[in-house]
Amino acid sequence: AAEQLRVHREMERADEVPVVIYHSHTATEAYPSRTDVSYAHEPDAHYVLVSTRDPERHELRSYRIVDGVITEEPVEVVDSYAPQTSGADDAPDRT
Ligand SMILES: [Zn+2]
Repeated sequence: AAEQLRVHREMERADEVPVVIYHSHTATEAYPSRTDVSYAHEPDAHYVLVSTRDPERHELRSYRIVDGVITEEPVEVVDSYAPQTSGADDAPDRT
């Protein structure tokens, strides 16, 4: 019975859609804090961070966090998060 259960779980995992874990920072940049990293236990998840500290220009960025190592990944910015973006390759300046 235990063997069947394990196989069943592996099949389920193969069907899983990518996990997106989203939260916002109201006062700091869109970069994982030490607390975020310490709670990041899903190596397959996309950790999406939005900074709302500038009310006119929200910043959206996405990361993988594996064993405490942060790797930024490219993200397609949705219009509503970057109203100042004029073209696909015209990324807003980052300070
Ligand atoms: Zn955070």
